[in-house]
Amino acid sequence: MIHIDASQGEGGGQILRTSLALSMVTGQPILLDQIRARRPKPGLMRQHLTCVTAAQAISGAQVEGATPGSQTLRFTPGPVRGGEHQFSVGTAGSVMLVLQTVWPALLLADAPARLTLQGGTHNPMAPSFHFVERAYAPLVRRLGVKADLRLRRCGFYPGGGGEIEAELHPAGVDGLQPFDLTERGALLGEHAECLIPGLKRSIAERELEVLREQLGWALDHSAIPVTRQNEGPGNALLATLRHEHVTEVFCSLGQKTRSAEAVAKDVARQVKHYLGSTAALGPYLTDQWVLPLALAVWCSGRSARYTGTDVSLHAATNFQTIMRFLPVQIDTHALPDGQGVQVTLAPKGDNAA
Ligand code: ATP
Repeated sequence: MIHIDASQGEGGGQILRTSLALSMVTGQPILLDQIRARRPKPGLMRQHLTCVTAAQAISGAQVEGATPGSQTLRFTPGPVRGGEHQFSVGTAGSVMLVLQTVWPALLLADAPARLTLQGGTHNPMAPSFHFVERAYAPLVRRLGVKADLRLRRCGFYPGGGGEIEAELHPAGVDGLQPFDLTERGALLGEHAECLIPGLKRSIAERELEVLREQLGWALDHSAIPVTRQNEGPGNALLATLRHEHVTEVFCSLGQKTRSAEAVAKDVARQVKHYLGSTAALGPYLTDQWVLPLALAVWCSGRSARYTGTDVSLHAATNFQTIMRFLPVQIDTHALPDGQGVQVTLAPKGDNAA
């Protein structure tokens, strides 16, 4: 039994999601307490409970404490099963965070999984569908697995109603193969797009115009995708930067009280921050990439490293949580001239190849 004080470090929901993922991967039962203790509404919220339910369903786990507001959870996993699963967050809670909770375990399952997830696809403080599809999933595939993600409908706060499908295959006979990602390589393309279902098209035009002005991008670098049936209302502005070795996606969400200019300037700020560094990954990929990579390092017994623009408290907390479960040492070193941080993952002890 691994006992985790979930109020440590950043003390947020990521400690729960990473612990669930690695409990299933390693077969180790967990006892989490002080879950989200320092948040204004502590304990398990709807989105976190769906992560627990999804983890329970794919691993046949025994669970105690999975109730709204609970700050303690016991989770004893069984063998991870592929197959068909459907999970609904029930509110606009992020389905992408549910996907990221179960995907690590499904990388090592004995059969492919087909998931249907319903809820929010573009949420504040969570990866958007486009970020996961274009930035995160291609890196996971490079570890040696097949995965296909489809957006059926966008879902925004507060209505939700989004749906995605994911076909996730386990690693092949060669297992997960780690790789270094220290350079982003040459810029191959950049574009902006604005999702605006159920709202005035002029908002999207304004956001794209301000973003183009801020970044000096040409008109043909932006688009307003066609809205699907039953979507919205909602607004997400996305900038995608395709480099030789990595794609990054930066996103900001519209709200009633937020001007189109503010949404566009937020995306522009994120893009400029990334382009101001030579590191391969932006701040969010830096905290998310570590988990699949740590699994590959553990499975293969080989080290790997990557560079990121920043290591946030969120990322540092995630590194600590992973080291509670896997015999993998995670270290960070500042890059010269303030260009970001290098993260190194090395197998510990007998695990090294
Ligand atoms: P809390 O307990 O703090 O309320 P939570 O469970 O809702 O938390 P966090 O623990 O803050 O969520 O984790 C949010 C996750 O979403 C992190 O992995 C972070 O990298 C990711 N994330 C947040 N914003 C973005 C973004 N704009 N693009 C990509 N990923 C993002």
